[in-house]
Amino acid sequence: MQTMNDPKRYLITAALPYANGPVHIGHLAGCYLPADIYVRYLRAQKRDVKFIGGSDEHGVPITIRAMKEGITPQQVVDRYHAIIKESMAQMGISFDIYSRTSNKVHHDTASAFFKKMYDDGLFEEKETEQYYDEKTNTFLADRYITGTCPVCGNPNAYGDQCEKCGSSLSPEQLINPRSALSDAVPVKKKTKHWYFPLQNYEPWLKEWILEGHKEWKNNVYGQCKSWLDSGLQSRAMTRDSNWGIKVPLPDAEGKVLYVWFDAPIGYISATKELTDKWADYWCKEDLPAGQAGTKLVHFIGKDNIVFHCIIFPAMLKAHGGFVLPDNVPANEFLNIEGEKVSTSRNWAVWVHEYIKDFPGCEDVLRYVLCANAPETKDNDFTWKDFQDRNNSELVSIFGNFVNRTWVLMHKLCGGKVPKLHEDLLDEKDKALIEAIKNSKIKIENYLEDFKFRDALFEVIDLSRTGNKYMQEKEPWIVAKKTTDDGRPTTEAQKSIDNCLHLCLQLTANLTILINPFLPGTAKKMLGMMKVVDKMLDWENAGSIKLLSVGYSLREPQLLFRKIEDVEISLQVEKLKNGLVKPKTEEVKMEEVKNEAANTPSGDGGKPEIVYDDFAKIDLKVGTIISAEKVEKADKLLKLQIDLGFETRTVVSGIALHYQPEAIIGKQVVVVANLAPRKMRGIESNGMILMAEDKSGKLHFVSPGTIIDTGSPVS
Ligand SMILES: [Zn+2]
Repeated sequence: MQTMNDPKRYLITAALPYANGPVHIGHLAGCYLPADIYVRYLRAQKRDVKFIGGSDEHGVPITIRAMKEGITPQQVVDRYHAIIKESMAQMGISFDIYSRTSNKVHHDTASAFFKKMYDDGLFEEKETEQYYDEKTNTFLADRYITGTCPVCGNPNAYGDQCEKCGSSLSPEQLINPRSALSDAVPVKKKTKHWYFPLQNYEPWLKEWILEGHKEWKNNVYGQCKSWLDSGLQSRAMTRDSNWGIKVPLPDAEGKVLYVWFDAPIGYISATKELTDKWADYWCKEDLPAGQAGTKLVHFIGKDNIVFHCIIFPAMLKAHGGFVLPDNVPANEFLNIEGEKVSTSRNWAVWVHEYIKDFPGCEDVLRYVLCANAPETKDNDFTWKDFQDRNNSELVSIFGNFVNRTWVLMHKLCGGKVPKLHEDLLDEKDKALIEAIKNSKIKIENYLEDFKFRDALFEVIDLSRTGNKYMQEKEPWIVAKKTTDDGRPTTEAQKSIDNCLHLCLQLTANLTILINPFLPGTAKKMLGMMKVVDKMLDWENAGSIKLLSVGYSLREPQLLFRKIEDVEISLQVEKLKNGLVKPKTEEVKMEEVKNEAANTPSGDGGKPEIVYDDFAKIDLKVGTIISAEKVEKADKLLKLQIDLGFETRTVVSGIALHYQPEAIIGKQVVVVANLAPRKMRGIESNGMILMAEDKSGKLHFVSPGTIIDTGSPVS
């Protein structure tokens, strides 16, 4: 129920997913699902809400992916924006708008935002020296410089960190630094950037967050406090790149806005795109004291806390004229089968694949991810738990209650809503009516507090109460008290009517209460009741007058199906096989040695062949997308090679010739139809062609210029 102190409008945002890959279930659990549940609840409350989302399409990783694949950054973001948008829609994430930051309206908005701050003299202009790759004409972020660690001698340390000894580094400290993009030796080059002096906003941020928002979740408040306690510094808000929003200043050729400057402004741009009245949501603060204007809530994962709680609010404050976030209910991370999600290792459950593998089970995933949401700490998703929750909660408790009610109503009450004989209500009936009222209030309080797991458990608990009630009332036993004609006695029928009347009203309540969580299920239930969406209004919950007496109802529909063991073992296999391909026979050490040379011998000592022999070999141009050393094998590198139609694992004996980081993005020629061979426990699916020079050094055989990945070679 809306009170005087409630905000007039709600702006709900969910973190902009980065358009260089599809979304996985960790993304859903982290912010999209909780945001959607909250929004659906607010809508059912008839509140004025806008749910804003979109793809974040700028930044260096996108340009690097484009470079590796030999396509443009726009092609990269077009591909993933489409996949992400589709996955969100299929999972029922009900954005009012799902936009993208490559849109013109966003470029204009972010550009104007920067310009206003510049004109107000809020930036510091600084010239620094940065590493530059002259081969690819790119300034290199620290992560894209590799070299030898000065602490432990690891030859593959990154410019920001050595992953072997854990030392945090700067590129200057690396011995023999190289560009990870081209293997070129990076050179220092002067570059100018615009810095936002966050330290100037520190006193205000401390007061606003540490004093003013003690109600924020512990994990969020704690992270903010530790940032603020350790002191803020100026941060560059521009970058050297050609992909992004051009810095709107005359002397800024080749410079774009820092992706974390432009991305959150995307929430404003998307609202502009959605409605002419966008300023009512973002700018109106003209209501009397005690009555807030807009309640802005950012749903994010924990890795985005600093950007949404410190940097973006400081930007909004500096710019002026915008509302500030009221809450930032960030979730922690969801691990998979006990391990951290890793997109590069493909240790993830991809949403678009889930939808393909479990058609019609979108609500089951929503259920499991909410029941297991990492609200206060990292949590673990396992396929076994997924199955258990489906089979023993959705099927056995919630689905079972609704189904029993429907079957018995058809059998004992002629398929119609039976009468309620109020004079005959007993203690059990009254307790059930009370439980229906109380649940509504509890669920509402949990939702207002962003405690989505507790809210969902309360809904399930209410259906559990329903099962227990029916078990105690035993209408099927009561029905055996019959008169001579075999029909239940009048008294028995009244007792049956009361029980099923209340069970039906409870089902109607469950429909309203489950709707924010499992909208597809609520829709099916509305269909069974033959009622319209209007019944889902939140204010209807708690009432036992939702279905009218005498109203005829449809046949029951299966809400959830049992998930079988075999489906679960397939998913576990798939997850594991994504990392390492299935086993074939172990190859002998001798073969490993041969493979380690991995080079067609160039001495012409082979017998002549006919064209048909050659034509049997399927040669394709592939792009190396990852490379790592194989443990205890000095000569072997494990490569992931994109062949256009699929990504292959290939083990190649080139470790003495190339550093893994240096060959990422290289195009190579692959023998694509070579039978799989297992080396050091890894199945290799193909072989890359190498040329050997007089000194014995191996060189890749590559197309002269970058061409489409997957192009045939003949
Ligand atoms: Zn080290």
